[in-house]
Amino acid sequence: MAKGKDAWAKMEEYNIQDINLLEEIYMIIRAWDRKHPNVALLYDDFETRCNVCGSTDMTQIKSKMSQTNVSLFPSYRCGNCKKVMRGRKRENPDNPKHSKTNGIPKKKVLMAHSL
Ligand SMILES: [Zn+2]
Repeated sequence: MAKGKDAWAKMEEYNIQDINLLEEIYMIIRAWDRKHPNVALLYDDFETRCNVCGSTDMTQIKSKMSQTNVSLFPSYRCGNCKKVMRGRKRENPDNPKHSKTNGIPKKKVLMAHSL
């Protein structure tokens, strides 16, 4: 019976240090997790926040744009966890340089696709 208690005590000690170690590792690698939960949703405000750590220390990366099939978005880097993420507002949608339609009115592009 004493052997079992010793084993449990040893496992408890191991688990405590394991959790502390994994938390430190998680804090380092979470910025690269593509499926990390969006913690910015937990805040009841309209601040620009990091999706990974919730920090408001966000800096726009002027030389990097995020691109979808239709639009360009500004990119931001979190000053806390260093995550790079896409902004929510399209970058200057009226600028033909930033439009995937290359200056062609959207109506004509839609008509061309329906042919
Ligand atoms: Zn962050």
